[in-house]
Amino acid sequence: MSAIRIDGKQISQQIRSEIAERVAVLKQKGVTPGLAVILVGEDPASQVYVRNKERACIQAGMASRVIRLPEDTPQESLMALIDEINRDEKMHGLLVQLPLPAHLDEAQVLKAIDPKKDVDGFHAINAGALMNGEKAPVACTPQGCIELLKRSGVELCGANAVVVGRSNIVGKPMAMLLLRENCTVTICHSKTRNLKEFTQKADVLVAAIGRPKFITADMVKPGAAVIDVGINRLADGKLCGDVDYEQVEPIAGWITPVPGGVGPMTIAMLLKNTLEAAERHGR
Ligand code: NDP
Repeated sequence: MSAIRIDGKQISQQIRSEIAERVAVLKQKGVTPGLAVILVGEDPASQVYVRNKERACIQAGMASRVIRLPEDTPQESLMALIDEINRDEKMHGLLVQLPLPAHLDEAQVLKAIDPKKDVDGFHAINAGALMNGEKAPVACTPQGCIELLKRSGVELCGANAVVVGRSNIVGKPMAMLLLRENCTVTICHSKTRNLKEFTQKADVLVAAIGRPKFITADMVKPGAAVIDVGINRLADGKLCGDVDYEQVEPIAGWITPVPGGVGPMTIAMLLKNTLEAAERHGR
């Protein structure tokens, strides 16, 4: 039997229409949720991501402000702009598109964003809140993975969950969210010995590695829910995930494709974080 294919496009569309309804309600109360995005430089992938975020905001009925700055923008100018948006009542969310040009101090930039407006959930205060189980903006990609699992009916309570990858933006918050759902969580990384021994025991396996087709069928427990966060470009220009989809799909219980799995959920969760920041602001 082959796995249930988790359709992130369809689920994200559903979430986006739910968000649009909540935005309409908020607008009737006189609050239009607003998202400001700062893009520094000309990175082509970042330009596409920012355009998609802008379009998604507008489609949901939100206000969007995109500020494009030149590659050689000095740190002080960027910090001054963040300060200005932090004080802008109309903008409930603010994100700085990463990666930044090498001369800019990313850690300082992320720290400067008002945690209440930090819709990426990258600020240390929000990462700490997630750890403590407090309500705060949560990183979009891992939040999207949880939504995919829940809306697909995967039983999380008591499940063995293995996250491969420990980045601050995906792996670590993913592990915290799975723990919050009462999974027994293991985090693996590049120094893990005998990785396969861990992944083979996973009822829920999340791959956030950045290596094409790294997770092969022999690493997966039959019937497991396999969430592929990876986005890798192959030599022929095609996108592929961290999971060898063709090999794993026949044995998994659920699987996300790449593209069309986790990717579309990230923007949906960004909209959700922005909406919730506006709802909190309006209270
Ligand atoms: P990072 O490069 O920051 O982290 C990768 C992680 O994988 C690290 O923790 C690393 O371990 C681990 N790793 C690398 N090689 C191995 C290995 N051989 N065995 C076990 N673990 C390994 O990447 P990100 O977390 O930012 O992103 C991961 C992937 O997800 C990328 O493909 C990225 O493009 C994609 N992504 C997709 C998003 C989406 O919207 N779908 C959003 C964000 C990211 P160590 O810490 O020891 O180095």
